[in-house]
Amino acid sequence: MDDLLLYNVIGIIPNHEDFAVSEILRQHREIGLDRFLVSLSFHPQMTPASDLIPVLCRRFAYVRDAVAGHGIELAVLIQSTVGHGWNGKVPLTEEPWQKVVYVNGQESPRMCHYDEGFRKYVYDCIAAISRERPSLLLIDDDVGVRMRECFCPKHIEALNKALGVSYSREDYEKLCSPNNPLRALLLLWRLFQPCRGRKGIGRQHRAFYPYQ
Ligand SMILES: [Zn+2]
Repeated sequence: MDDLLLYNVIGIIPNHEDFAVSEILRQHREIGLDRFLVSLSFHPQMTPASDLIPVLCRRFAYVRDAVAGHGIELAVLIQSTVGHGWNGKVPLTEEPWQKVVYVNGQESPRMCHYDEGFRKYVYDCIAAISRERPSLLLIDDDVGVRMRECFCPKHIEALNKALGVSYSREDYEKLCSPNNPLRALLLLWRLFQPCRGRKGIGRQHRAFYPYQ
């Protein structure tokens, strides 16, 4: 039983950080929990999107400092930063980042991780929150390969280069039919794409994690 580590997830309501602090201290006192994950979503939601980063870092730092001295380990749960989109009528951010494009040409509300601007934003988020010295970062972000994506211009250019062809999005739509032998090759190629994002996130974390 000594090896079982329990982390309780704590949300922070903006401008009500004290409630998160009192909840952590209450659960520590009454239940004996001593590890907590502060849930933060870095989902782009303003312009420039990077304005959100110091806001969330201050929010975490406030809670961290308020529970210091109680023998509590404070970590960060990063949610809905990469793998989520926004379907509202008014966009949350005006950042000109590439959206994910399905093979049929429809646009997803999610940002494409191949966009360098979006990728830099995510790396900046990881670097900034790592500087606040959370005990660990847990990334729960639906990062993974999904069917029928991504066929945005950036991905098509990279896919064409990797395959030595010059296909259009419409060409790929035909190639992605279930009985086309090239489909397996396309799926295999796409399987490796999220790994690049994970390596980049890891680099940012290690660069700013002073006690590892
Ligand atoms: Zn893409």
